[in-house]
Amino acid sequence: MIMLAAFAVLASCKQQKAVVNPLLAEWDTPFGIPPFEQVKIEHYMPAYIEAMAQHNAEIESIVNNIEDPSFENTIVAFDNSGDLFERISPVFSSISGIDSNPEVIALAKELSPLTSKHFNEINLNPGLFNRVKAVYEKRDSLGLDAEQMRLLTETYKGFERGGANLPDDKKEELKKINAEISDLQLTFGQNLLAETDAFKLVIDNDANLAGLSESLKASAAKKAEKDSTLKGKWVFGLDNPSIIPFLQQSEKRELRKEILNAYLNRCNNNNKEDNKAIIAKLIDLRLKKAKLMGFENFAQYQLEDRMAKTPEAVYDLLNKLWTPSLASAKRELADMSEIAKSEGQNGALEASDWRFYFEKAMSRKFDLSDAQLRPYFKLENVREGIFYVANKLYGITFTQIENVPLPNPEATAFECKDSDGSHLGILFMDMFARPGAKRGGAWCSGFRSQTYKDGKRVAPLVTIVGNFTRPVGDEPALLSMDEAETYFHEFGHALASLLKNVHYNGVGGMTRDFVELPSQIMEHWAFEPDVLKVYAKHYQTGEVIPQELIDKMVNSGKYGQGFATTEYLAASLLDMDYHILKEIPANFDVLAFEAKVLGDRGLISQIPPRYRSTYFSHTFTGGYTAGYYSYIWAEVLDSDAYQAFVETGDIFNKEVATKFRKEILERSGQDEAMTLYVNFRGKEPGIDPLLKNRGLK
Ligand SMILES: [Zn+2]
Repeated sequence: MIMLAAFAVLASCKQQKAVVNPLLAEWDTPFGIPPFEQVKIEHYMPAYIEAMAQHNAEIESIVNNIEDPSFENTIVAFDNSGDLFERISPVFSSISGIDSNPEVIALAKELSPLTSKHFNEINLNPGLFNRVKAVYEKRDSLGLDAEQMRLLTETYKGFERGGANLPDDKKEELKKINAEISDLQLTFGQNLLAETDAFKLVIDNDANLAGLSESLKASAAKKAEKDSTLKGKWVFGLDNPSIIPFLQQSEKRELRKEILNAYLNRCNNNNKEDNKAIIAKLIDLRLKKAKLMGFENFAQYQLEDRMAKTPEAVYDLLNKLWTPSLASAKRELADMSEIAKSEGQNGALEASDWRFYFEKAMSRKFDLSDAQLRPYFKLENVREGIFYVANKLYGITFTQIENVPLPNPEATAFECKDSDGSHLGILFMDMFARPGAKRGGAWCSGFRSQTYKDGKRVAPLVTIVGNFTRPVGDEPALLSMDEAETYFHEFGHALASLLKNVHYNGVGGMTRDFVELPSQIMEHWAFEPDVLKVYAKHYQTGEVIPQELIDKMVNSGKYGQGFATTEYLAASLLDMDYHILKEIPANFDVLAFEAKVLGDRGLISQIPPRYRSTYFSHTFTGGYTAGYYSYIWAEVLDSDAYQAFVETGDIFNKEVATKFRKEILERSGQDEAMTLYVNFRGKEPGIDPLLKNRGLK
């Protein structure tokens, strides 16, 4: 309340006229969509300050309630707190991801310590925790239903994991460790961004462009235009849309080596962006935190509330996959070595040769290339295919809507309705790359989560974002197979948000290693012949993709999985190995550690881990710490779950689809992930479908 008043004074000094901050006003928009275009950068800071003040006031009123702590006045009240915060922060994270600029970056840096301090204080608020604990201790006498019980235990565990049960001196230590960790994680990410952006491979003569496609050359020429000293030359960078096709196509071995070396040594150049010392400090602090919380190592602490539960369970899976994957990668290498030899390439292949010769092996073995397929994967057609699958499975429909606020002028909006015509939510799509403004990769997020308020369903606002190939000239956006698959993947996340049906925010989330089940299962439908025939139509002639091409896709689908699985597993193991350490020696040598753990497992020099330590942002910026394994963990689930459809002889089997919706998508975090899975499948998942899908069996 005091902060609120202080803010009002501040605002009135600064602004002569009463200007309404759109973030703080009622959103009188269709579907309550944020009024994106009215929000200016200067609106965020005052809105965040107001949101934190309101949140604090809500927490205070829970703490100061003179009534005895009850499920309603404590657990539900806490679940409902922070409403304004949850309304405005997705708007800012959206522009940070899709519309970034130096002002946004600076504001993010300013906001990050403020918000982390805010939540740290709530997590360690003793008055609040005492009330939560009081309710938790009498949980069996409260007559709660299963979802309420889950909310109560998850809320209690959340506080416990945040350190609320620690004695005061330890709490202070924890706060310090947390602050240091988040500072180091932020710096790690900033260093990586700086080094990734800084490198340029500049080519100034035609001869060195040998092998490159016209479109790759065109985009490299465009990149050069940004710098007046490079006009008329070609610039290649370390971003995926640039380096990957370069490594696949360039006939200049020395140049491939140069760009890959720069990529592999990001933040390992002993300059001010070097991340080695940061890693050593981070793993040390994380271990200290784990010990403070009563665990032997940080992986144990991280995994305790995930589906995997223990490091042993994770290693068990990764180790089972390692041997067949590496063997399969070695077979791929043998194929490529033979081709290289026949082309007069003497000596062993190196890491920088892999993608180049893999492309050749693909076309020799299967006579299939990216260029043959793209005409059948026009973005709009792929989208129709996705909607078709969703409709066949769940009876839901998507209709494009106009005249609603959009997160970006390039985005489109769709209304999702259930089979009975009732409104389920809004889905935005913002799929094209915008270098310099949009973060790389693809993701799904949202502006409002599904929940219930006063007994009424609150409909979600969901968005998927990609970095897909843009339309060029008269040609529409023609996607690669990878991009088409990613589209299905992100849409799967969106479906999980749209179909979710929970009553409390606190049970609305899936754990890191479960959340990829709804997304990855969608990938299975992407290239099913029956689905391709519906959407994969030539963008000029409308001709349905010929059977011959479908056959080639099916036959080649597993080729390359040896490499892909091995590089992924190597990174997953590296992530785990750092976080099972029980002590960190002084002068910990990051490079030696990395070399040892990968070397001991027999990784071959031609395959670097998908991420080396100094640029492994998944693990060292915090999102996937002891968690990079999650994708393959969830792949065990999605492969097994898809089998449930296949076993019926109908990949759109209504009964299985309904069960998947009711037991998994709708329930989200209402119960333990394995319980939800078994409710759907009738048994725990087996690993065989995954091995088969990846051609490792
Ligand atoms: Zn995903």
